[in-house]
Amino acid sequence: MRGSYYTFYQKAYTAFRDHHKLLAVCTISGGGLVAYSDVRPFGSVYADAAQPTTKKTKVVVLGTGWAGTSFLKNLKDPSFDVEVVSPSNYFAFTPLLPSVTVGTVEARSVVEPIRTIVQKKDMDIRFKEAECYKIDTVNQKVHCKSTQNSNIAGKADDFTVDYDYLVVAMGARANTFNTPGVVENAHFLKEVEDALRIRRSIIDCFERASLPSLSEEEKQRILHFVVVGGGPTGVEFAAELHDFLHEDLIKLYPSLQKYTTVTLLEASDHILNMFDKRITAFAEEKFKRDGIQVKTGSMVVKVTDKAISLKERSTGETKSLPFGMVVWSTGIGTRPVIMDFMKQIGQGNRRVMATDEWLRVEGVPNVYALGDCATINQRSVMEDIAAIFSKADKNKTGKLNVGDFSDVINDITERYPQVELHLKSQKLKSFVDLLQSNKDGTAKQGTQMDIEKFKAALSEVDSKMKSLPPTAQVAAQQGEYLAKCFNRMKECDENPEGPIRFRDSGRHRFKPFRYKHLGQFAPLGSDQAAAQLPGDWVSIGHSTQWLWYSVYASKLVSWRTRFLVVGDWGRRYIFGRDSSRI
Ligand code: FAD
Repeated sequence: MRGSYYTFYQKAYTAFRDHHKLLAVCTISGGGLVAYSDVRPFGSVYADAAQPTTKKTKVVVLGTGWAGTSFLKNLKDPSFDVEVVSPSNYFAFTPLLPSVTVGTVEARSVVEPIRTIVQKKDMDIRFKEAECYKIDTVNQKVHCKSTQNSNIAGKADDFTVDYDYLVVAMGARANTFNTPGVVENAHFLKEVEDALRIRRSIIDCFERASLPSLSEEEKQRILHFVVVGGGPTGVEFAAELHDFLHEDLIKLYPSLQKYTTVTLLEASDHILNMFDKRITAFAEEKFKRDGIQVKTGSMVVKVTDKAISLKERSTGETKSLPFGMVVWSTGIGTRPVIMDFMKQIGQGNRRVMATDEWLRVEGVPNVYALGDCATINQRSVMEDIAAIFSKADKNKTGKLNVGDFSDVINDITERYPQVELHLKSQKLKSFVDLLQSNKDGTAKQGTQMDIEKFKAALSEVDSKMKSLPPTAQVAAQQGEYLAKCFNRMKECDENPEGPIRFRDSGRHRFKPFRYKHLGQFAPLGSDQAAAQLPGDWVSIGHSTQWLWYSVYASKLVSWRTRFLVVGDWGRRYIFGRDSSRI
């Protein structure tokens, strides 16, 4: 039936095309060139309608943060029809948000409209400013509603978007650990709007404290700035705040200097505890010199509109600290929409959504998750040890020489990143060395190894398993990795390139995601920073701050934002930061 329609259309199209060619020839002496050029597109539209069209594969991307944007920037295969849904119509360069809170850098300098980013690509990419509130994996569609940020009168109805592949990159929310009063009384530092609110609030505190009717005690309270969380974001914000107070505001409000204090609260024993000890020690010492009060071992138990209650871990004592502004930066939690989705797909008992090493959400087909909204559920070598042994044991003898593992060695190191980390930590050159290093010496070349000895040789490998940190670096690398998989999706159907599937037959279509750590910075204020670079190389001081400037300028998403941010840094050096409360 379809074939006969097709023949009919083809015949009709041929007659129609010839007729138009005739028309074009007739009119060629009087603007005929226009007529001919008109015929071609019409003909091609007609032909498109007549020929069976191949439906493009629909990819829906939820989120325009680090992971989503990196995916979009690296996706190149034009055979995908891409739809992006996010409540933010821009990408925000989050590492500069602490600078936005005090006006070292302006908010518009760190954002790039997502439409500008995708416009440069020769692909079908559409954007909808909306938020997804439900993922329906049975019917392969996402339910969306207009964003709450919109101030337009009238209601936009909810809508659904179908997908063939879904890329979930919705990030995370700030984690309050259910501490009472945090949501109502503290600022978060997660979004651009948060940074702008903090900036207004700091200046608000100074203007309020300048009013003549306030008591000394009240001035002290209002100008007490509390930062909760001694991780990189809390520390960087405390440092930026200290610089703003001492380099700019104190000059404008000299009589208020004696009332101004910054306190940094951390529940564990040290700030920046994910960094090398030298960096932690330097940061704590520097903050002490700068007059930032660092209180470690203090758990916040309650926040009211004027005071924060702490429990000292060492004494069990509870204290109350009056404050003017508190910024809460204690890590991230799962968004409610992701929690609902996790319940739906049988991951309800987990804290974070799990994917496999190919970033596929466990338990559902065609759904990928990347960035802060998910974590890779890395398989342990011990879970698969019998399958690995059996793949290597081609003749099924139950006893292998070290050399018999040669076929699976690359696949093992590719599939289980902990193997490489273990080899490095033991200063071993290869997997063969690991097998031969077995303490009882039974695995020497030429000697035989059964499954028990194989297990013993690998018994410590899994201790090096660790989950990836929730950082922009991880999110961006995951976005790039997944886009590259999508770009090769069609060719890889026939030519799988990944490691052996140890639990079933064949090979995976792609290599698993492998994170490459490029180092981490901690800006500490007064134009000093600390950096922990690959190979545990530590650098601290003014020169590191210049390294920070150059790395962050190079990482900005566009030349426009690069130009604006560098301009803001220069403006700050010359004119200082602006203290208007707008
Ligand atoms: P995000 O970048 O948070 O993006 C999530 C996206 O999802 C957003 O576009 C959001 O609008 C969208 N979204 C939310 N809800 C929905 C919904 N319902 N439907 C659809 N879309 C939705 N990392 C570093 O590596 N180095 C740093 O120096 C650094 N500094 C930081 C400083 C600050 C102040 C902060 C807050 C974070 C910092 N990070 C840093 C961490 C880094 O920003 C995150 O790890 C990174 O943003 C995670 O990327 P993501 O794409 O998963 O999420």
